[in-house]
Amino acid sequence: MNPADEHSEQIDNCQHVLLRCFTNLLDFYERTGVKEKIHFHDRLHFVRPGGAVDILKPGWLPAPAHLIGSLLMFRGLTLTDKYSILTALAAMRHERQNPRLDNITIAHWLTTHGATEKAVSYFWRPILISALNEELERVSARPAFHVFLQGVMKNRASYQIGIPAVPLSELYPLELDNRLGENVRVHLRSSIKHIDPTDRVADYYVSAVPFEYINQLIPSLQLPLERFEHSPITGIHLWFDREITTLPHAVLLNRTIQWVFRKSANYFQCVVSSSRSLLPLSREKIIAMACCELGEFFPVALDARLIKAHVVKETRATYSSTPGLEVYRPLPTTKYPNLFLAGDWTQTGWPATMEGAVRSGYQAAEAIARATGREESFVLP
Ligand SMILES: Cc1cc2nc3c(=O)[nH]c(=O)nc-3n(C[C@H](O)[C@H](O)[C@H](O)COP(=O)(O)OP(=O)(O)OC[C@H]3O[C@@H](n4cnc5c(N)ncnc54)[C@H](O)[C@@H]3O)c2cc1C
Repeated sequence: MNPADEHSEQIDNCQHVLLRCFTNLLDFYERTGVKEKIHFHDRLHFVRPGGAVDILKPGWLPAPAHLIGSLLMFRGLTLTDKYSILTALAAMRHERQNPRLDNITIAHWLTTHGATEKAVSYFWRPILISALNEELERVSARPAFHVFLQGVMKNRASYQIGIPAVPLSELYPLELDNRLGENVRVHLRSSIKHIDPTDRVADYYVSAVPFEYINQLIPSLQLPLERFEHSPITGIHLWFDREITTLPHAVLLNRTIQWVFRKSANYFQCVVSSSRSLLPLSREKIIAMACCELGEFFPVALDARLIKAHVVKETRATYSSTPGLEVYRPLPTTKYPNLFLAGDWTQTGWPATMEGAVRSGYQAAEAIARATGREESFVLP
């Protein structure tokens, strides 16, 4: 049954989106035959409390300036705010190689580069908090640069947002092993207790578990992971008796909810990244907050009747890209010649994203090929 149906019991934990610049994820979707299930959108709607909408979309200028025309039209920002954004974007391109970027937060970098308060709350924060799942005051400048240089400015299409038209269970289906080739077997709900790379049961091992499990699985590895922390994401699923907006998705400015996705005429999914403030709150309080905030942006919601609601708190949603973490992200190779690591937290050059996860798998595959004496490349630029 389609989750958009209010009687459906199946919902995703939270809306997952990708950017057109997620080249390896798109390659993976191609290999598994689901690429056409991703629908790309070239307009991002920034909605202010009260309902006014500013649209980020490409103009006639070539990349990296393709979005500037629409940014200059943003009515929620003053000329000074816009000037501060443009100078910071230009500075990012010049400072991209600065080795100190991983030692400072992006909040610090923006402050020292003249970002105005409104430019931060109406532009930098909504983009970065969703892309990096972390507060600007806690997140390293390095991945923040990556989001803007690879995502927003790279080429005319790289910022486009891809939204799966199907639930995650259809995007990553149970029969994935059939799609990946006849030699692949997936054993679901089978927890690995321990890997001993020296036992020779298998020729090669790849671990793709999250960072918090790796040292338990293979205690002899003893990876220095003390600096890794989690950051939560909360998904709030609301079914109303009517359509509260026709926008397919929207960035909600300066409130708790950062994004809302219209899943059907009456089903809306709200996303709160870095949702630490929501963790102690009850389901009822979170739903009341969400309805109240939606009413501020889409006044129709004030009169709408809530039919059904779900709150999904993912407390360990992603690792947190805090300053100084980069050097602790391990390579795919380990001290064992037959053991390899994958996972979005390994050294992929990308923040915690589905793209980072696929890159890590491709990197591990390349490392295994090398271990067998073959040079193969899987990672796409
Ligand atoms: C709510 C939420 C929203 C997100 N939204 C986005 C988004 O919009 N865009 C985006 O790009 N990314 C998003 N992410 C991040 C993205 O999902 C992750 O970056 C990605 O899934 C990481 O993939 P991974 O393979 O490294 O780890 P995981 O997806 O965490 O996979 C690790 C797997 O290891 C399994 N495992 C753990 N221990 C064992 C064991 N002992 N034995 C066997 N198996 C084990 C786990 O069950 C799990 O299936 C979101 C994450 C969450 C939680």
